[in-house]
Amino acid sequence: MDLGISGKRAIVCAASRGLGRACALALAEAGVSVVITGRDRAVLEATAAEISQVTGAQVLAAVGDITTPEGRAAALSLCPEPDILVNNAGGPPAGDFRDFTEAMWQNALNANMLSPVAMIKAVIDPMIARKFGRIVNITSAAVKSPIAALALSNGARTGLTAFVAGLAREVAKHNVTLNNLLPGPFDTDRLRVIAENTAKQTGRSVAEELALRGVNNPAGRVGRPEEFGAACAFLCSAQAGFIVGQNLLLDGGAFNSTL
Ligand code: NAP
Repeated sequence: MDLGISGKRAIVCAASRGLGRACALALAEAGVSVVITGRDRAVLEATAAEISQVTGAQVLAAVGDITTPEGRAAALSLCPEPDILVNNAGGPPAGDFRDFTEAMWQNALNANMLSPVAMIKAVIDPMIARKFGRIVNITSAAVKSPIAALALSNGARTGLTAFVAGLAREVAKHNVTLNNLLPGPFDTDRLRVIAENTAKQTGRSVAEELALRGVNNPAGRVGRPEEFGAACAFLCSAQAGFIVGQNLLLDGGAFNSTL
């Protein structure tokens, strides 16, 4: 399927590994020029080179922490007026909410709500002027079905979700869409960190914890990053202009509901 976005420009935040990387790869496969961000220069530059080599697309690396003004400026300096923005950042730590300090809450809010809002603010008006924009926020299945140990994530990401719900309806008439992708368990470094944390509490090995996430899922496995990337690319496609303010759960059916 031709996604109709060849020649467009994208910023994909936090994309040297995992789900962000998969989104960048899928967009590059669709002919989009991509700026990817990450804090580790060596990993980021290797990813940019690899995606460029595989797809033939231009992929530039903006090194920096996307949760800081400097990190965002680095990305925007390489692509001041993107047609596509994928917001992403690392997830906050797990734990008992009684142990979370105010600084930890501020960090989570900054990474998983305020930084995406700042990026949206920086890019949306030129999108409106050009009558094309696609903004996708990587949030979490925890927005729909809270995970007790991830209280920081549950809270901060739900704030972003509510903001997006309102803004999406304001800008849809300009062919600018905002939607969220809600990952369940995907085979990335982040899942391994969560499994390590759970293993400490359950006494099971990390391998057992990871296997359980697949066995307990209706799909009988965890998600593959490329499946996530493909969904992201479709939400960024020309054809997806009528998909507005949605929260697409990619969890293998783990959230049990009729609708
Ligand atoms: P991951 O495998 O740990 O990859 C995270 C990526 O983000 C890396 O490229 C990392 O590079 C970059 N990054 C992290 N913090 C950054 C920052 N402050 N500035 C710039 N880049 C940053 O994580 P993932 O599994 O892809 O998860 C992506 C998001 O989805 C996270 O918010 C996670 O909590 C959420 N999520 C994941 C799952 C899952 O099962 N995988 C489930 C639900 C939600 P550097 O470290 O070099 O910066």
